[in-house]
Formats: sequence, C-alpha cells, structure tokens
Amino acid sequence: MLSLWRKIRRTGRVAESAPPLPDGERPERAVVLGGSVQIRHVDAGSCNGCEVEIGSAFGPVYDGERYGARLVASPRHADALLVTGVVTRNMAEPLRRTFDAVPAPKLVVAVGDCARDCGVFAGAYGVAGAVRDIVPVDVEIPGCPPRPEAIVEGLRKLTGR
Ligand code: SF4
Repeated sequence: MLSLWRKIRRTGRVAESAPPLPDGERPERAVVLGGSVQIRHVDAGSCNGCEVEIGSAFGPVYDGERYGARLVASPRHADALLVTGVVTRNMAEPLRRTFDAVPAPKLVVAVGDCARDCGVFAGAYGVAGAVRDIVPVDVEIPGCPPRPEAIVEGLRKLTGR
C-alpha cells in the first residue's frame, strides 16, 4: 500500500490540462442540470470505433469526469443519452424506448459521423436512419471516429464546465 502511495506521488497528474470552454450554444435544457450530467451510452449500430474513443475520453488522460460528466448504467439514472453509430432497424425501437426511460429534461448527444448523418453506412439495407431521425438531438460531435478531445468538448457543452 505504501509503495502504491509513493508511486502515485511520484507520477502526479497525467490528465491533459483543461482547454478553454468550447464555443457554441449550450442547450437550454442543460442549464438546469447545474454542471453535472449523468450519461447513458447507447450503441445504435456502431462499428465500435466511437466506443474506443469514448473509453479514452473517460480515461486518465482526457478525464471527462472532471467536467461533471459521468457514465451510468441505466437510462432511468441518466440526464442524457450518448448515442453512437448509425441507427439500425433493430435498434430504432430500443433507442426510442431508452429515450422514453430518461427522466426530463433529457438530452441527446450524437457521437460520430454515423450518428449525425449515417456516415459510411448511408443507404445500407439495415439502416433506419441517423439518430436525429429517431429521437431529438441536442449536440452533435463530428468525426469518424471523433477524437477524445472532441467528445469531451461536446460533453462540456452540456455541463458548462
Ligand atoms: S463514425 Fe466511424 S468510428 Fe464511429 S461508428 Fe461510424 S464508422 Fe465507426
């Protein structure tokens, strides 16, 4: 235990220093959340690339939690949905139901080009549409996949921190 504490002291903080607050509109409904947002992630048909970057966004280097964003296990405990991937036909109804299970005021963040406009999967047989075709979207994060900095920046638009 003592050696662990020594190692922590030697290593110090590994997180990137906080960049300035991103420009752009903060969704009006996010203001009432008071700088803390509980997030449920939904993979609506992703290739898993966006998930890898979300993992990094909440890892020790980018540390999304320090801005008040936290991943939770249930939509009933969440303020916002973080949706990745194009919405496949099989996932359209589960996404609608997950959205319905989030208590108001609820927010939706579409992560990645697939979530924004179907990306490379546009026109494919199993595609029901982009996220905004199924549920209302408040913040969109472009990229294929988006960099962890961009994901953290999008989450900071919700928390305002
Ligand atoms: S945006 Fe790119 S990385 Fe993300 S799910 Fe689509 S293809 Fe995969």
